Amino acid sequence: MEDGLADVNRFQPILAFGIRLWEDRWVTSATSFLADYRYCPHCATPLTPAEKGGRMRMVCPACGFIHYRNPTVGVAAVILDDGNVLLGRRSQSSSYPGAWCIPCGHVEWDEDIREAARRECLEETGLEVSVGEVIAVHSNFHNPAQHTVGVWFRCKIIGGALQAGDDLDRVAWFSLDDLPQPLAFPTDELVLDQLR
Ligand SMILES: [Zn+2]
Repeated sequence: MEDGLADVNRFQPILAFGIRLWEDRWVTSATSFLADYRYCPHCATPLTPAEKGGRMRMVCPACGFIHYRNPTVGVAAVILDDGNVLLGRRSQSSSYPGAWCIPCGHVEWDEDIREAARRECLEETGLEVSVGEVIAVHSNFHNPAQHTVGVWFRCKIIGGALQAGDDLDRVAWFSLDDLPQPLAFPTDELVLDQLR
């Protein structure tokens, strides 16, 4: 028994070194695809991987914070007029510059989702809209660093004047059979196919 313990003690530094190497490697790979947080956002302790709720997640050993990495919610305003759809071209200072998209944006923390669609549409197109039914819901995986769930609403113009703003530098109507290229988002293509 004591001999066995002595053996374990002798090998412990090697074992610990091996575990540390393995952990470092694990943490490095985990932080690259599991988490964008390396430190606890509440107490600044380095996060470590642990299984929580059936998945490996980054957790804080000091305060118990668990980094549940969830997609954010995006909204898009689909405005149709006599077979034409309103699209915007993304400005040079936005993501996907020069590519076209259905006017869209993110829902703020304390914002109702339909209010977000109304606000984004006004900011990007200058148009006041009423927000109608949901046309489509899709998961967006095109950006590995930021997954989102998008909700596309049918919107009706009730005021304002067409004027590109915010992330867009141009807004224009296009026939569903003659869309501009490139489109910024694969899921916009799904929705436009659905409308055709
Ligand atoms: Zn913490």
